[in-house]
Order: sequence, then C-alpha cells, then structure tokens
Amino acid sequence: MTNKAVFMHGTNDMIWKEIPVPVPEDNEVLIKVDVVGICGSDVHYYQHGRIGDYVVEGDFILGHECAGEVVEVGSAVTSLKVGDRVALEPGKTCGKCEFCKSGKYNLCPDVEFFATPPYHGVFANYVTHPEDMCFKLPENVSNMEGALVEPLSVGLHATGMGEVKLGDTVLIFGTGCIGLASLLSAKARGASNVIVVDVLENRLETAKKLGATHTVNPKERDVVKTVEELTGGRGADVVIETAGVAITVKQTADVVKRGGTIVLVGMTAEDETSFNFMKLMGKEGQIKTIFRYRNLYPTAINAIASGSIPIKDVVSHEFDFKDVKEAFDFVVNNAKDVVKAVIRIN
Ligand SMILES: [Zn+2]
Ligand SMILES: [Zn+2]
Repeated sequence: MTNKAVFMHGTNDMIWKEIPVPVPEDNEVLIKVDVVGICGSDVHYYQHGRIGDYVVEGDFILGHECAGEVVEVGSAVTSLKVGDRVALEPGKTCGKCEFCKSGKYNLCPDVEFFATPPYHGVFANYVTHPEDMCFKLPENVSNMEGALVEPLSVGLHATGMGEVKLGDTVLIFGTGCIGLASLLSAKARGASNVIVVDVLENRLETAKKLGATHTVNPKERDVVKTVEELTGGRGADVVIETAGVAITVKQTADVVKRGGTIVLVGMTAEDETSFNFMKLMGKEGQIKTIFRYRNLYPTAINAIASGSIPIKDVVSHEFDFKDVKEAFDFVVNNAKDVVKAVIRIN
C-alpha cells in the first residue's frame, strides 16, 4: 500500500508527497478514501492560507468531506468490519468536556477537525478515524453521497435550529452547496415555499431543479419588495443566511415574518457587520447561529437512503485525484459555473 497525499504548498500551489499509511489505534479504523468534496473552506485556505484565526503553517492537506472503505480495524472496534463503506464525520472531540457530555460536541474546544489547521485533511489514499465517527453507508447510498453527508449536515442543522416545519415559508440567502443543502433540508422538513436569493443564475437554476418555489436575483429585482409580494406582506417564517455578505445579513431583518426566526450560517469577511436590531425587536424575531453540526450523520444518511434528500444533485463537477490542483484552480476561476465539485480518489 502506498499513501499519496496532496499538500497545499503556500497559496495557490500544491505538491504531492508519499506519506506512511497510518496505523489505526484500538478504537480506530483505516479508511481507503474514495470521494472527497471540495468545500468553500478548502478553496479559501488554498487561496488565502487562512480563515480568520486559523492559519496554515507549512505544507497542509486539505479536504474534510469524505467517504471510503474500511480496510483495517483497530483491536477494540466492534461495529465496523473490513469492506464496510463509511462517511467520515470530520471532528474528533474530547468526549469529556461539558459540551461533549451534553451532546453539543460540535462546541468542544479541543476538537481536531480535518483540514482545520493544525490538523491535516483527507486528500490522501488512506486515513485513520475513530470508529464512532465513521457512519456505515447502506447499499443504495454511494460514496459520493457519503462525502456529501458533511455539507448536508450543515443544512440539516440550520433548518433544525430554525425549526422549519410543515407548511412554512423559508427564505434562503445564497445557493452555494450549503444554501442548496439548506433548501433540500427545508423541503424534506415540510416547508411549502422555499424562496432562494443569489446573484449567480446557474445556481438559481440548480435551486429550481432541487425544488425552490421562487428564485430571486437581486441584480434584477429588489429582494425585500419581492419577498413582500411573494408572502402577501407577511415575510418568511424562517430565514437562513448562507451567503455571508453584509447586505444579505442586514436584509434578514427585513424579510423575516413577525415572530419568525433568522439562522446565520455564512461568515462575513468582516467580523463586525451592521444589523437593524430595533426592526427585529419590533417583530419579536429571533436570531440563531450555527457552528458546523452535531448528531446529524445518521439522519442525513437515512434521508439520502430513503430518497427524501437527493443530495447528489448538487454536484456539478467531478475530477480525478491526479487532477486535484487543476480542480482547485478550476473552482477558483469558474465560480459562475461550479456549484459543487468532488474529487474521486480511486
Ligand atoms: Zn465542508
Ligand atoms: Zn469536548
């Protein structure tokens, strides 16, 4: 077995290295990686070498959305066997802090998350991972869908925090992978109307195919007015902001219904951003935020297996592992065309 990994090497560059095949600890399995999704965060590190306080030092392996096959198990592993296909939930948490103990393990301060410096990601042939963070895929869920469980979990968490329910009108700002995963999750939770807002036409088209009832391009129509018209002046029950743009963050207060909920998902370039809290207070609106997700991999896998969430339809481009640098450069240079790119490792 050889283990080739691709490392980002400064910004906008990558190099290949052969690294040792890792040896699973007692509670770990060795995974032959099959599919890895390219996430917006991977692209951001590739271009800028940092996201906020997380700074890439030296050569660094990207990639955290992944699925593959178990090829070796540690001595204490009981629930997985060689040959099982699994989706990897990227964070290894301490299991001991108050957050881990209360089930909110996504808030564990000691998390080791794939491709978040200083922890390497999964653009390699082999990785090890704890048994309890590897989720077995049923026969009718592909490894590509397995890799997409990660972004889907963000959408499920956003719509869960927003308490989207049967009959709701949901408005989603941004139709990147997370916006589309939120759209699919909102539909699966029973939303009747899902309005999506983006400036990129190809993504609005994809959103329509995935079940958006209305699409709004702010370059063509005033968002706030349009939402008023579409909702009979009431606004949206739940507003999910995935664009991470100052103007759309601000607009969430304009388009949310009285008593409605805003969920902030996208991170703005600036830490501080202006918001009309008085307007929201006049509506008794709520703001919630999310950080990654928790306890949602089984839900996501079941939803894919049952057909209620066709997550693979977000994929617009597939590349071979050997072309991984070309894939990153393509994603950087063709944002208009790319909705979601995945890398096939094998
Ligand atoms: Zn991701
Ligand atoms: Zn913890």
